[in-house]
Amino acid sequence: MIDTHAHINISPLLDNVEKIINNAKKNGVKKIICVGINHETNLKAIKLSEKYKEVYASVGIHPSEVKEEPNYLSLLLHPKVVAVGEIGIDLYWRKDNLDRQIDVFRKQLKIAEESGLPVIIHSRNSSNVIYEIVKDYNVKGVMHCYSEHSDLVDKYLDLGFYIGVGGIVTFKNANLVLEIVKKTPLERLLIETDSPYLSPVPFRGKTNEPKNVLYVLEKLSELKNVSSVVLNKITTENAYNLFPKLNNTI
Ligand SMILES: [Zn+2]
Repeated sequence: MIDTHAHINISPLLDNVEKIINNAKKNGVKKIICVGINHETNLKAIKLSEKYKEVYASVGIHPSEVKEEPNYLSLLLHPKVVAVGEIGIDLYWRKDNLDRQIDVFRKQLKIAEESGLPVIIHSRNSSNVIYEIVKDYNVKGVMHCYSEHSDLVDKYLDLGFYIGVGGIVTFKNANLVLEIVKKTPLERLLIETDSPYLSPVPFRGKTNEPKNVLYVLEKLSELKNVSSVVLNKITTENAYNLFPKLNNTI
């Protein structure tokens, strides 16, 4: 398995990162994309990718961090930086700085377009706004932990996007995510944890870590009525297709 979205570059995961990577390996996780949200965590993600062969990095300025400027162009040349992200718009935590969020988001989409790297998009109460912006750029990417309007799924799929599924799919009231999963063809699904957040059942409420991506895979295989071995193969191939730099080693 590949955990396509984990923040092992922040506390509490960073404090035990070696153990957390080993736990993941024991559960069959071969690679982890460690996602930055600001300059400090971008650099930490890259450092981890240099130290651990299983770890790859993604760099970006998250919508909650838009006080910072997206001036990380040189980092994208690093062989283990596989994506621009996490970037996006969040209208759940803050609405008053939407203009700034849009400005920083557009700048980063342009950076992704020019560098040829895929994007990892964070959307919260904002998938309509994001769609209207993203369609202006020649980028591919993933809607990470997507759990908004299921009627937008087709539109994102038409843009060449993938749908990232995390622990929410195992929750009891996950009807919206179930609908999204139903609409998404196997070849556009990615699995992720968003560690340390969103622990799947049976670990809800605890700190999430990449090893738990197994529970996401198992739930998805049940929903899609395909064996977890086959689904693992497909979602792994999907990750390599979207993030070709996952093939790099240093
Ligand atoms: Zn995240």
